[in-house]
Amino acid sequence: MKVSILGAGPAGSTAAFFLASAGIETELIDIREFPRDKTCAGGLFNPLLYFRDFPYLEEADGKYLYRAIFSCGKHSMSYTSKTPLIKTFVRKDLDFFLLNKALKAGAALFINKPPEGEVIIDATGARRARDYPKAGVCLAWDFPAREDTDTVYIHYAFQGIVGYGWAYPKKGFANIGIGALLPQKNMRSIYWSFLEFLESERIFSAGKKSFSVKLIPFAPRRSFHEGSTLLAGDRAGFVKPATGEGIYFAMLSGRLAAQSIIEGKPASWYEEQCRKGFGQHLKPLMFSWSRPLLFGTLEKAIKIGSRDELFKKMFAENFFRLGSHNLALRYTRHLFT
Ligand SMILES: Cc1cc2nc3c(=O)[nH]c(=O)nc-3n(C[C@H](O)[C@H](O)[C@H](O)COP(=O)(O)OP(=O)(O)OC[C@H]3O[C@@H](n4cnc5c(N)ncnc54)[C@H](O)[C@@H]3O)c2cc1C
Repeated sequence: MKVSILGAGPAGSTAAFFLASAGIETELIDIREFPRDKTCAGGLFNPLLYFRDFPYLEEADGKYLYRAIFSCGKHSMSYTSKTPLIKTFVRKDLDFFLLNKALKAGAALFINKPPEGEVIIDATGARRARDYPKAGVCLAWDFPAREDTDTVYIHYAFQGIVGYGWAYPKKGFANIGIGALLPQKNMRSIYWSFLEFLESERIFSAGKKSFSVKLIPFAPRRSFHEGSTLLAGDRAGFVKPATGEGIYFAMLSGRLAAQSIIEGKPASWYEEQCRKGFGQHLKPLMFSWSRPLLFGTLEKAIKIGSRDELFKKMFAENFFRLGSHNLALRYTRHLFT
């Protein structure tokens, strides 16, 4: 049997790694030469969980971050963790690392060639907003940064966007971006304001104006396969809408796609395993709230977190997927105090 994988991002390269490791002839086809740039904050949330699932990632050269500041409106809170919240990478390096793992395992890479395999995995990323029930747009850039820049900064609802602005320090760089649910006007001028805001608050000085734009799915597609073709990663819409995190779900779905082919399971098995494995993270629940309710709840949550250590810890651990806590319960208590 020969398998063709379209797209050599984290989803495609992970699928290729597991297929080739199982001795299956695997071709990985991309439209771009590698190493290639990719617009992304590049954070592996809760890296220790990644290392459990994909131990080889521990050797990849990234930056560990333990501290995060969350802001909304007038309020902010700072949280420092004993375990790493996130390991960050320039995506060009991370994707090249994952691709090389697949090539070393025996997969072959081709640029712009028709697929020849009997089975196909489509891991070509997010292409059109209309493919997903909800989608967003991100503007971001990797700016050069000092090595001692070590705090993740998250600013919810910056200038009224349903989303957040961020600063993610990396080795030698910091990714500065904003992401918002579509439709959203004036993203470019909101992004410039965010750069100015970070500078005026002495959080990060970009020094110049640059960005690239990228679509981001905020809800999975109704089905995770098209006939026998398995859709993995962003192609299927596997992004956590509350944070925009997608690399973990891309890798998990790539591994599940490989497993379903190795074990000769039908596409429905793959779909079921994805839903069972990480479906709970992908529900865009908050996006159905009205803007005033969403913004009011977030601002109140940050205010509570600035006074309540346990709430802050729970909030940060939920964000970085270090744990799953019932925030609503503790939040409700504060409404009456
Ligand atoms: C600004 C921004 C910041 C983000 N930050 C984070 C973060 O910090 N942490 C996190 O976990 N997630 C983050 N994400 C989400 C994350 O980038 C994606 O979820 C992840 O890249 C999905 O991986 P993938 O392999 O599915 O797709 P991709 O990484 O998009 O890879 C798809 C590949 O397919 C190739 N391709 C496209 N079309 C074709 C074709 N027709 N034939 C063959 N190949 C094709 C592309 O060239 C590309 O190499 C962010 C997203 C954005 C936009």
